[in-house]
Amino acid sequence: MFEVAHRLKEIPPYLFAELDRLKQEIQNKGVDVIDLGVGDPDIPTPKPIIEIAKRALEERENHRYPTYKGMLSFRRAVASWYKRRFNVELDAETEILTLIGSKEGIAHLPLAFVNNGDIVLVPSPAYPVYAPATYFAGGTPYTMPLLEENDFLPALGDIPEDILGKTKIMFLNYPNNPTSACATEDFYKDVVSLAKTHNFIVAGDNAYSELYFDNKKPISFLEIEGAKEVGVEFHSLSKTFNMTGWRIGFTVGNSEIIEGLGRVKTNIDSGVFQAVQEAGREALNHEEEITPAIRGIYEERRDLVDEYLKKLGFSYRKPEATFYFWIKVGKDSTSFAKSLLERCGVVVTPGVGFGKEGEGYIRLSITQNKERLKEAMERISYAL
Ligand SMILES: *Cc1c(COP(=O)(O)O)cnc(C)c1O
Repeated sequence: MFEVAHRLKEIPPYLFAELDRLKQEIQNKGVDVIDLGVGDPDIPTPKPIIEIAKRALEERENHRYPTYKGMLSFRRAVASWYKRRFNVELDAETEILTLIGSKEGIAHLPLAFVNNGDIVLVPSPAYPVYAPATYFAGGTPYTMPLLEENDFLPALGDIPEDILGKTKIMFLNYPNNPTSACATEDFYKDVVSLAKTHNFIVAGDNAYSELYFDNKKPISFLEIEGAKEVGVEFHSLSKTFNMTGWRIGFTVGNSEIIEGLGRVKTNIDSGVFQAVQEAGREALNHEEEITPAIRGIYEERRDLVDEYLKKLGFSYRKPEATFYFWIKVGKDSTSFAKSLLERCGVVVTPGVGFGKEGEGYIRLSITQNKERLKEAMERISYAL
């Protein structure tokens, strides 16, 4: 009756529907299911951030429409944090844009720059937003496989010249969801040089920049010389400060790209609730005091899960960042995940859900407390 638009039909089907149904069915039988499938922090937003938001709720000026770019005080906090954290200078007026979560900005970027027939380079496996955003804008995604033998970095030399000639945007995401890999400076240098040669935009997704372990800080794409001439970087307060529900993120970098995305957004949304921006500003201004405790919690969990997986003989790389383990299980990741759920009530995500190149792997999130993780790992040990 109401046929959906062609652009929706181009979107790959939702691959987890069957697994969701199975989870429900098993839960209905009374099984205590442990969900290690979701990428959503279980830890609450730190109290001081909530207190700032409560106070900001009472401010009458916050009840009105926010400015499109975001509050200047929020953008200044972003600039200051970027300088402290990455030693990158940003102009709060022209090189920073507040977003309703980084997903929102990522999804809208192609609308600003992609025409029919343009290519967008999209990694696979990947966060499932880059390819649909490309389709919505009329572009064609070109897959850059992320393979273990290349440390889950795209092999830039494998992208054909004619594809590069039609490329408008390259999406990258390090520290990476789902593989947990980190980018190197050398890799980013090659990206900058390729982008300059072929005149395309680099859109780096750095949502996990503060979720690192062993004191090895992930770098920013913008630290690379010349990066600001070709790219922007997306950040999120979601994972850094356990604020996924608040919906606040930002993008920084090349002012022309920021301006283009901003023009799309002025026609679609009206910015982020200012009370949320005030909370975000405080969070960024105190990042160095807030995030070590959060990292500490995840690092303990990572070590716990690593001990079990090692004993069980799984093939994986111990994550240096993110809250994901990317584990090789052999061919059919969906069957593996289903069987794990049926046999021990533990949910993991089949790698194929992140793209064809993710087949053969599962993603396990450590977004449950230590007791639950231990219980899950004990159950898996028995089941195998
Ligand atoms: C969680 C996540 C995001 C985004 O989050 P927002 O909550 O929209 O800021 C972006 N990219 C990746 C790779 C993620 O995993």
